[in-house]
Amino acid sequence: MSATSNGSARFLIVGPQGSGKGTQGVLVAEAFGVPQVATGDIFRANVSGGTELGKRVQAIIEAGDLVPDALTSELVRDRLAQPDAAGGFLLDGYPRNRGQVDDLSGFLAGRGEALDAVIELEVPRDESIARLRERAVQQGRTDDTEEVIANRLAIYERETAPILDVYREQGLVVRIDGVGSLDEVTQRIFDALAGRGLVAERSGGNGAAA
Ligand code: ADP
Repeated sequence: MSATSNGSARFLIVGPQGSGKGTQGVLVAEAFGVPQVATGDIFRANVSGGTELGKRVQAIIEAGDLVPDALTSELVRDRLAQPDAAGGFLLDGYPRNRGQVDDLSGFLAGRGEALDAVIELEVPRDESIARLRERAVQQGRTDDTEEVIANRLAIYERETAPILDVYREQGLVVRIDGVGSLDEVTQRIFDALAGRGLVAERSGGNGAAA
């Protein structure tokens, strides 16, 4: 069952590393009752599980480079074909460049679907770097070293930020100020989506109906 009045909840969340998009993405997905599909998490699970895919992508991830589009798009297409994504999904970390945008719209169109909204989480560069440094200490992710962080942010600015222009032309982008408390930012996202008729059944932890 999808959660919105127009019957679908197909979202994409985009923001620089350290913007909090992973955390917010989980909350939005839960509220709308759709799976969160985070390519970075899927790749990391494969690396730690020692799968064939994990072996192919490990060095790429540790360098902060992008996994090839064909591999990434196939992975996402297969994931979105699972029954739990039939009524919607929240994509985090995919698409990350123009090629992936085209792949995604191609396979969604093949299913008679399209995105309902693209959530752009805006955080100034200094703030996202500071948050990443903090996370590096807490989580010990192998790609959170200074050098790799710089590479990932450069790729974001060069390849990922421009995809927002494509979605802006399609009128899909909701721009959210990502600076504030976790709850404040979550509430901004729900309010902005609600402004487009995309209302979650469970709109989060701020006293809204459960
Ligand atoms: P971050 O956004 O902090 O870089 P992610 O968890 O989203 O972290 O991604 C971690 C890594 O996984 C990326 O640096 C890249 O190597 C790989 N990856 C994730 N999503 C994609 C994608 N859509 N295309 C190519 N590579 C990806």
